Amino acid sequence: MRTDRLVQGLFVALLLVLPAVLAPFYVTLLNYIGLYALVALGLVLLTGVGGLTSFGQAAFVGLGAYTTAVLSTTPELPGWIAWAGASPWLTLLVGLVFTATVAVVVGSLTLKLSGHFLPLGTIAWGISLYFLFGTLESLGGHTGITGISPITLFGVVLDAGEKIYYLIWAFVMVAVFTTQNLLDSREGRAIRALKGGMVMAEAMGVDTSRSRMIIFVIAALHACASGWLYAHMQRFVNPTPFGLHIGIEYLFMAVIGGAGHVWGALVGAGLITVLKQWLQDILPRLLGSAGNFEAIVFGVMMVLVLQRAREGLWPVLKKLVPVKAPQKTIDPAADTLPRRDLPTAGEVILEARNVTRKFGGLVANNDMNLTVKAGEILALIGPNGAGKSTMFNQLSGVDTPTSGEVLFLGKPVAGRDSREIARMGMSRTFQHVRLLPTMTVLENVAIGAHLRGGKGVFHAAWRQDRAEEARLLKEAARQIERVGLGSHMYEEAGSLALGQQRILEIARALCSDPCLLLLDEPAAGLRLKEKEALGDLLRKLRAEGMAILIVEHDMDFVMGLVDRVVVMEFGQKIAEGLPDEVQRDPAVLEAYLGGV
Ligand code: ADP
Ligand code: MG
Repeated sequence: MRTDRLVQGLFVALLLVLPAVLAPFYVTLLNYIGLYALVALGLVLLTGVGGLTSFGQAAFVGLGAYTTAVLSTTPELPGWIAWAGASPWLTLLVGLVFTATVAVVVGSLTLKLSGHFLPLGTIAWGISLYFLFGTLESLGGHTGITGISPITLFGVVLDAGEKIYYLIWAFVMVAVFTTQNLLDSREGRAIRALKGGMVMAEAMGVDTSRSRMIIFVIAALHACASGWLYAHMQRFVNPTPFGLHIGIEYLFMAVIGGAGHVWGALVGAGLITVLKQWLQDILPRLLGSAGNFEAIVFGVMMVLVLQRAREGLWPVLKKLVPVKAPQKTIDPAADTLPRRDLPTAGEVILEARNVTRKFGGLVANNDMNLTVKAGEILALIGPNGAGKSTMFNQLSGVDTPTSGEVLFLGKPVAGRDSREIARMGMSRTFQHVRLLPTMTVLENVAIGAHLRGGKGVFHAAWRQDRAEEARLLKEAARQIERVGLGSHMYEEAGSLALGQQRILEIARALCSDPCLLLLDEPAAGLRLKEKEALGDLLRKLRAEGMAILIVEHDMDFVMGLVDRVVVMEFGQKIAEGLPDEVQRDPAVLEAYLGGV
């Protein structure tokens, strides 16, 4: 049996017996831990994995709690919603739909904010919702709403702590497992790329704004469910537990537990809840006066964790109990992904017409013309500062020419976003390697296959995507073998040598099944042997009908490999032709010798 499953099974078994052996006070404590863990789990996805810091989660808990409170206690609900008053389960449904709607609205307003503006934005709507709860007459103002009915499940009324305990922890465990599943999927890789890999992910066809919205809504739904459980456990609600300081506390839990790890949410929620209880008891007695001294201790703790264990406590704990999740396996029986028909050799794939790009007074590209044909390798070379990377950006659609146009498969590239261009069959690598260092080589390369799968979040969360996932991983593995990184498949991408990382990027680009490959300085940092291997790989791809454009500084690498060369200097094309011709061209010799 897999040890990770065994440990998880033991944990669930422990959860099942605890209420039988613990005093009611501790069961209540565990209930709170469960409720907090549910919210913190959303923050793991949103903040720890996705890199979007939110101080406002408590407000979403409030939405869940107040929705069910209002619907369960209002005697005469308006006709259209009257059905919801019949059962807490219906109010949960309404709450989730309502919260998702609010999250989409709030998310579309705030998620575009960058840097520290996003957290500030979450503080803003967190405060607004909190004051809304306290101000609205119909929500009972600061006294709140009482008389909320308990939840009934299979005829059992969950009106005591040890009864609702099971429901709360069932929610938590479902959330833990669905979140784990989600992170281990196509959508999950897209989500994990949000933190530090947005440009790369977009180039691989990931809709990063959509992924951001997805985790924002999921985190809000977790909070809403927690609020619903809370309202029916307490049987009354008032605004206090939904304020900004509780929102901060949720973030504390996630960060101290380990914001990047699903189990970190449980550790953080458990630790903070127990510690708070204990400190509230002991500190006033020690210090001989009443007060919220625990807040000070938490502040110090937070600083210590940030200094000593950035990743939170979970990774530290995990080292004590070494439970390894098994390596992903490649299923050789999985279907092979369908492939795009490559254009016939010699057909023009990419064409730049009179492309000019000015940066203020500087003309980085001046009236550039070039074509790349199927089954051909074209090199764009030139001394430093010649305008190669600028040209690369015009060709790949990252930047728009000041004048002139770029046609890919006969269609203009300008104005299209990276995703659409990727979908059309153009794939690229980056001059400065862009990969996700803590993910394995296999997972990094699999991001390249994003557009070749379609299963969404729901399928992933409930493991309904396994057949597709097997196909994507098989394809990723095939590309990794093809570029010669097979023996590094399961290593962290960040542990590879720079040259290997560049090769990884080529495998990732190939994984999208392109007809045009754009490589920005692929040989930089490669050793001679690696350069030879790269050359062989590119020749093989060319033989298969791939069109390849290489932007390169290294003359020697290019000359033995490519079919045609375009040479740039000062933003202009100074020569074009066969490698031999170009090498003898006086203008080129002048540019290179003068440039060095
Ligand atoms: P290469 O890749 O051939 O070394 P680049 O295309 O990076 O050359 O740069 C060409 C020229 O354009 C350089 O003088 C560079 O300083 C300038 N340049 C490139 N990008 C920008 C930019 N975003 N803003 C202003 N100047 C730029
Ligand atoms: Mg450059």
